[in-house]
Amino acid sequence: MIKKTNYHTHTTFCDGKDSPEIMVQTAIKKGFSALGFSGHSIGFEKQNLETNWHIPFDKHFEYVAEIKRLANLYRKEIEIFCGFEADYIKDLWAPTKENYKKINPDYLIGSVHYVFKNGEHYTVDGSIEEVKKGLEHFYKNDGKEAVCEYFALEREMLENCSFDIIGHPDLIRKRNNVLCFFDESENWYKEEIKKTAYAISAAGCFVEINTGGIARGVIDDVYPSEDFLKELFAYDVPIVINSDAHSSDDLDFAFDRAKKIALKCGYTKAKMLRYTNTNKIEWVDYSLS
Ligand SMILES: [Zn+2]
Ligand SMILES: [Zn+2]
Repeated sequence: MIKKTNYHTHTTFCDGKDSPEIMVQTAIKKGFSALGFSGHSIGFEKQNLETNWHIPFDKHFEYVAEIKRLANLYRKEIEIFCGFEADYIKDLWAPTKENYKKINPDYLIGSVHYVFKNGEHYTVDGSIEEVKKGLEHFYKNDGKEAVCEYFALEREMLENCSFDIIGHPDLIRKRNNVLCFFDESENWYKEEIKKTAYAISAAGCFVEINTGGIARGVIDDVYPSEDFLKELFAYDVPIVINSDAHSSDDLDFAFDRAKKIALKCGYTKAKMLRYTNTNKIEWVDYSLS
């Protein structure tokens, strides 16, 4: 049987609509064999950054306790894992095992959402208005420069941090269909994804196929693009299939499409987490066909 798993799940602890328990119950109904939670995180100490979409710094332990409670309560029906989607923000926070040592999560997703400069920032997946302003303010509307800087930040994260999965590696595409600030068919763009695919393989992490943008109707494609995924396949980078769900309805949104794209790019298997006999956890392969 083809496995159904998801390791990219948001809840009311951050910017998700549903509680962790509703997510677990829905995953069971939808036939998932594993569900991993990945609350947005920029750490456990107050940061000099206004945000309403991360787990509040003083709620991390409560979040972990709740996920562990559910893992135990529903262990006969589904395997539950506790992770974080940790932001890489230069000089502010980084997804490293060291930073999360005292919480000891089952896994970490490393993601770049922010561009920071001289104390100012914008999020590349923010509203159309925010991204438009960011492009004007930071790059004088030079789209190529904005994209190259985004991928350079990801490579910096890959070189300096330690995490299990890189989140949506070409998230910068999210607002391109409306703002049209770059062209994916140009050579410089192809070079950027090639360099970043190499950095992902050198870091030894997995890449996710993320269907969250389709679920939210902002982009009619998965992250990463087919071209990017082909580069990753050539470098032997393993995949996980993730929905980046912010509501229980979206837990398996467009999973068929994600699998089709994976197969088309050459992948025949994906990774899943499981508990061993000694109650440790390990990533193992499952077949996509
Ligand atoms: Zn994200
Ligand atoms: Zn996410």
